[in-house]
Order: sequence, then C-alpha cells, then structure tokens
Amino acid sequence: MSAPESTYVIEGSTGPWELVIGLEVHAQVVSKAKLFSGASAEYGAEPNSQVSFVDAAFPGMLPVINRECVAQAVRTGLGLKAEINLVSRFDRKNYFYADLPAGYQISQFAHPIVGKGVIEIELESGAIRPIGVTRLHLEQDAGKSMHDQHPSQSFIDLNRAGVALMEIVSEPDMRTPEEAGAYLRKLRTIMRYLGTCDGNMEEGSMRADVNVSVRKAGEPFRTRCEIKNVNSVRFVMQAIEAEARRQVEIWEAGGEVRQETRLYDPSRGETRSMRSKEDAHDYRYFPDPDLLPLVIEQEWVEELATHLPELPDAKKARFMSQYGLPAYDAGVLVMEQATADFYEAVARGRDGKIAANWMLGDFFAGLNRMGRGIEDSPVSAEGLGGLLDLLADATINGRIAKEVMEAMMETGETAAAIVEARGLRQVTDTGAIDGAVDQVLAANPDKLAEYKAGKEKLFGFFVGQVMKAMAGKGNPALVNEALKRKL
Ligand code: ADP
Ligand code: MG
Repeated sequence: MSAPESTYVIEGSTGPWELVIGLEVHAQVVSKAKLFSGASAEYGAEPNSQVSFVDAAFPGMLPVINRECVAQAVRTGLGLKAEINLVSRFDRKNYFYADLPAGYQISQFAHPIVGKGVIEIELESGAIRPIGVTRLHLEQDAGKSMHDQHPSQSFIDLNRAGVALMEIVSEPDMRTPEEAGAYLRKLRTIMRYLGTCDGNMEEGSMRADVNVSVRKAGEPFRTRCEIKNVNSVRFVMQAIEAEARRQVEIWEAGGEVRQETRLYDPSRGETRSMRSKEDAHDYRYFPDPDLLPLVIEQEWVEELATHLPELPDAKKARFMSQYGLPAYDAGVLVMEQATADFYEAVARGRDGKIAANWMLGDFFAGLNRMGRGIEDSPVSAEGLGGLLDLLADATINGRIAKEVMEAMMETGETAAAIVEARGLRQVTDTGAIDGAVDQVLAANPDKLAEYKAGKEKLFGFFVGQVMKAMAGKGNPALVNEALKRKL
C-alpha cells in the first residue's frame, strides 16, 4: 500500500516510533432472522425470548443457512470492492464459555466468503489513503452473560446467540489513530449505505478489535497486542495511543512486548492484560460436518451488484462535478445517506454551492444547538429550499436570512411566513435608503470629517450604521452605492 501521508510518531527516549495498526471489525448483519435459525435477530427484546432450539444447541438440531445473511455479506464485499468467493466453507471454532451453548461458534476460517478489498479513507489534510481489507467472513455471535442482575449468580441471555456477524479484517496498513478512526467511520458509512449493518456502536452492532504494534521507521513489524471489543471510534483512537505508549516504554526499558489480548479502560485511559493470545490451533478449527460448502452463483452476485445503491465515494465525486462542491464539503454531505438526500432535495433546481454552504453552516449549527439529527430536523429540505429562494430573488438579504433560519428552527414555520409576519423584506426603495444614509451622516459629523480627511476604513462603519438604522433590512448593494454617492 502507498506510504502514509501523516508523520505521526511517538517520541521515546530513543527517538521516534512508528505505529502499525490493523482492525478486526465485527458487524452485525441487518437481517430479520439469525444466521442458521429462524429466530428473530432484533435487538432489545426480553432476555431469552428469541432463541430457537438451534441457537440453544439442543442435540440433533441442524443449522440451515439464511440466504439473506449471505446476500448481505456479498453486498458488503461488493461495497469494499472485494473479491467474492463463489465457494466458501463453514468451520467450527471451539471454545468453552457459558454464553456459547454449543461449545463452538460456526465461523469461516480458511475459506471466507469475501477476499481482498479496499477502503479509501480521507484524512483531515485532505489526503486519501487506501487501506487494504484482508477478508470478510460470516460467523455466529455468542450469547450474553449478565453479571449485574444478582449478587451471587450470573445470567445468560441467548437472544444474541446465532445472530449473523460479518468479521471484516484489515491489513496492518494504518499508521495513526486518526487513520484508524477514519477507517471505522468509512466502513460504517459504507455498510449503512448498503443497509447491511446499522453501525450502531453503542448497541454493540459494530465492535472493533484493535491490533497495535510499534517499530522504528523502516523496520519489519514487531509483536502486536490485540485490544478486544472497543465500542466507540473515540475509544479506538485513545486505546491505540495508550497501547502504543505502553509498548514504547517496554521496548525502551530493554523489555519485550508479549503478544496478548488486552482490554481498554476508558476511565483510566490505559489498556490492561486480559489473557495471553490464543492461536488458531487453540480453537481446533475443523469444517462443520452439518454444513455443505456454501456455493453461490456468479449471476446472483451480479444481480446483487446491479441493485447496490450509489456508494459514498461515487456520490462524493458526483457532488463535486454536478454541483461544483469542494472535496471537503462533498465529503461531509455524503457521510450519512440521509444528509446526502436532504442536500440533493435542497439543491434541486437551486445553486448547489449556496445550498451546501447553508447546510454546512447555519443549518448544521442550528441542529447541533438543538441536539438534533437531520432525521428529526424541524426544518425540512423543502423549508430550507424556500429560504434560499427568498435569498435568490432578493426578497431578503443574507443577514436577515440567518435570522430567519434561526426562527425557522425554533418555530418550524416557513421562511415566507416568518418574513411576512416580522416584516423582514429587504428594502430596495432608494428613497428610504438615501434617507437612512443622510440620517447617519448627519448623526456622525466627526466620523464624516475623519473619512473626508482620508480615513477610508470608516466606510464599513457607515455601512454598519445605515444597516442598523434600517433594522438590517437594507439591500447591501444599494446601501453601498448610496453611501459612495453621498460620501
Ligand atoms: P489473528 O487471526 O491471530 O487475529 P491475523 O493475522 O488475522 O491474526 O491478524 C489480525 C489483525 O492483526 C489484522 O487486522 C492484521 O492487520 C493485524 N496485524 C497483524 N500483524 C500486525 C502487527 N505486527 N502490528 C499491528 N497489527 C497487526
Ligand atoms: Mg483475530
């Protein structure tokens, strides 16, 4: 992969250290039913109310693959520009844990359904970096142990047992916490566009295992540690930094980093050891004898491909060419499908750049202030468009438009209604403007003298005073013109 743009390093006593980061993301598949059973996969139900005999691993029960989950994995693979493997296999990954009734998890080990792909991330500097995706495989989720329900007992909720997960493994291509954050956000955006994972990290439907090592520039990779189950982008970035610092200290003290699984504690800002790393052979993987190899048809893959939505990269490129937007603005607007759709509804038949400026400026600021998202915005796309129309036909000026925007946010009324009710129409009557100019000049004889003596900066002061005298409603171009004439 191409060289990193960033020069992020950790400074140790022996000089700078570079970071090496690879992410394993578990993404819960959007699907009505589980991967191998017909039980509901919906989140938040009463404990153990969505458990089939297969999920509870009753003897003699046979898994039956859910076609929709396979389709979701293929769609995700296509969204990651990855190889789709027409033949893949399910293996048993054996381990013993209270919330895993079968004693094994059905997963894909040697033959995943999706092979190598790529995610392009955009950094704050504007640089674009491709990050390699090693593979995507399908597997079952485990149940959930609940230790906080009873003083001396633990409870098990098997609702999650058997729910389909996609494990998406990256190459160790990332070099900075920022890149890891950008990778996760981009992956989440792509899956949300595809409708294959809701990306909700708080509910655990997307979680990341973070692999970190450090090295001196140009060296081969050193031993990594894996930080398990980090559940927010911010914590992933913090965990990387904390873990890299810990490793630098160990190496510089003459020690050696041991490969292990660690946990990140956000309240302390540090990682701690959970267990020494298990290797593949510890899981005694073997092909699941209950399941035939998964064989899919190329035509089916192509059929799925033709129904994919326009993905964020393509949409961004189109926004730039169709509406003339700068890369940054287009990038922000396509981050969420709902935002992109809202923007296009506003921009349709209007100036795309002005529409983007208003959305990224006052509109988003207003939503932020109210703690709302675009889905529950008090102002619709049509409403915002209405405001831009009043601006475009010079019914109001830019300053008043900001005021109207705020009022729209508060009241949910249309721009036109607010402008009429509050009498905010722009004054273009040159008689009224001239009157205001005369009044301001008469009220500021000293400033006028200074201006005449050469202090031309004062022009702005006069513009401000005239606007104030007209309650902000003067047409700025006409006010300027009148002032120039009279001064
Ligand atoms: P395992 O299956 O044991 O977890 P993998 O080879 O699949 O091991 O790697 C898991 C993750 O660790 C991948 O995301 C990979 O990019 C990352 N990784 C591998 N080597 C390193 C390293 N030296 N430093 C940081 N990350 C690494
Ligand atoms: Mg792993």
